[in-house]
Amino acid sequence: MRFAELADAYGRLEATSKRLEMRQILADLIRPLRGEELAHVLYLSQGQLLPEYEGVELGVAGSLAVRAVAQASGVAEATVATHAKRAGDLGTTAEELLGPRSAPAASAALSVRDVYDGLREIAAAKGEASQAEKIRVLTGLLERAGPQEAKFLVRFVLGTLRVGVREMTILDALATAFADGSKDARSKIEAAFNVSSDLGLVARTLVDHGVEGLARIGLEVGRPIRPMLAEREPSLEAVLKRMGGEAALEYKYDGLRIQAHVPAHGAPELFSRRLENMSAQFPELIADLPKALAVKPAIVEGECVPIDLDTDEIQPFQEVSRRRGRKHDLDKAQAEIPVALFLFDVLLAGHEDVSAEDFPARRRRLEQILRPTERVRLAQQRIVRTVDEATAFLEEAVSGGAEGVMAKSLGPGSRYRAGARGYWWIKYKRDYTTGLTDSIDGVVVGGFAGRGRRAGRFGAYLLAVYDPKRDKFESFCKVGSGFDDEQLREMPRRLKPFEVDAAPPSVETGLTPDQWFRPGLVIEVRGAELTLSPIHRAAAGAIRPGVGFALRFPRFTGRIRDDKGATDATTSKELLEMYRGQVRREAPEGEGEA
Ligand code: AMP
Repeated sequence: MRFAELADAYGRLEATSKRLEMRQILADLIRPLRGEELAHVLYLSQGQLLPEYEGVELGVAGSLAVRAVAQASGVAEATVATHAKRAGDLGTTAEELLGPRSAPAASAALSVRDVYDGLREIAAAKGEASQAEKIRVLTGLLERAGPQEAKFLVRFVLGTLRVGVREMTILDALATAFADGSKDARSKIEAAFNVSSDLGLVARTLVDHGVEGLARIGLEVGRPIRPMLAEREPSLEAVLKRMGGEAALEYKYDGLRIQAHVPAHGAPELFSRRLENMSAQFPELIADLPKALAVKPAIVEGECVPIDLDTDEIQPFQEVSRRRGRKHDLDKAQAEIPVALFLFDVLLAGHEDVSAEDFPARRRRLEQILRPTERVRLAQQRIVRTVDEATAFLEEAVSGGAEGVMAKSLGPGSRYRAGARGYWWIKYKRDYTTGLTDSIDGVVVGGFAGRGRRAGRFGAYLLAVYDPKRDKFESFCKVGSGFDDEQLREMPRRLKPFEVDAAPPSVETGLTPDQWFRPGLVIEVRGAELTLSPIHRAAAGAIRPGVGFALRFPRFTGRIRDDKGATDATTSKELLEMYRGQVRREAPEGEGEA
């Protein structure tokens, strides 16, 4: 196919916003195509050279494209730049400036293949001479292009090709061009796309083997599956009702979704929810995954969250987002912001595709093949049948650093539904929008042995508030964040006089630290919010029997309150008031979609 034909179709696609018309234009465009050419036209129409997950980048900056247009048109670079500025689009500028030239000889006319190969060459140019190489190839293509071709070429290399063909429209066009256009055909085509994320592969398989032949596209290590998505419900009651009175609740970790492809031999690959390749960003996961999975090849899914390896406390999401897209200082980032991957699903186990099995079977499989490591763990889960059980689990999840729970259907039909949003998974987040503005003065009542960098010292401390009425010290958090090296050395020295062998009778907590301390040293902490907790005992029973308050994401402010004795610490009553103030400030959950 000549590239002019493709450019002409782009021109017509650009001129319409009607989906039906687009489908027709596209279907007519691709109907005569076969093999690689068909795949190339589909990728190009999406502004890509390969499926998105391949992450091919052209690396063409605006200035570079300006230079190529100048060279191809014989117009001064400055003039091209000014023109583009006025037009707001270098593509239009290329179209206008290349228009007056004598038309390229018919023998020089560009084919789709020429353009595709040229663009691949541009993408492949790396290293010192790459800029010159990219300009040379682009100029060569522009010299052979007609005005409209030049416009789309320039937009393509700049990533501004907006002919408006979305994946869904392309799937429509495939059904029209190569099948009977029926709903059934359309949904089979979409299903094949959902497991492969590769429109070129789907199109070629459809042409070669027909709609029924699409079933031969299976899972493949290294090729991401479009992720299954969750619906939402406003209450846990509604969640349980929707799931038929029984569901698996899991911690809803707040991090980055990762689909890990672990081959039998060689390095795993990681893909984000949008199927970007994230492998380079998390070397520690790449290192641990092969050890953590007893059966390979495997495709597993999980959430990657920042974690304090000394205390096992999950850290706020902002931390992990700092590692996303990071290309430099990876070692530093790895040490500063350690992460762990909490696995919640498995699609391929050994050479067995388990994605069609119902969820309970997949979870069992995941538990069987996982040998948890420091970095690769299993998502917390509990089967619940009542709202009370669900509420208790939610509270546990939130105090454990999760942002809510993910409910998963256990029923028939709970197979992995690639690319689909449905009620087989329902997310439920506890509402909270405001952080705690007040700091809390907590009494140190316990110490937890450190790991990693903190081996041989305490990695975290158990803190309590004071209830003067009962003369009790009630725990509300385990804090490991916010201490610098000097403070880490200082703390044990300061606590030495308070060491005791057993839990002091005045201390109430559901946790057992490695070292108990008589209430004496007071330190200041801040946190994100107060949550209900079955483990901590602060103001226990004030809201619900047996349930106390926990401070979420506690952090030492750096201040040891030498001016305060144990009974001068924040009281349980003050904590209760802070909780009430926080509830009043809370707004309904936002509609934030990651
Ligand atoms: P949302 O991004 O709010 O639509 O919530 C769905 C996201 O929650 C998923 O895409 C995952 O990234 C994340 N998530 C966290 N924990 C889980 C879990 N246990 N199961 C499934 N998804 C989870």
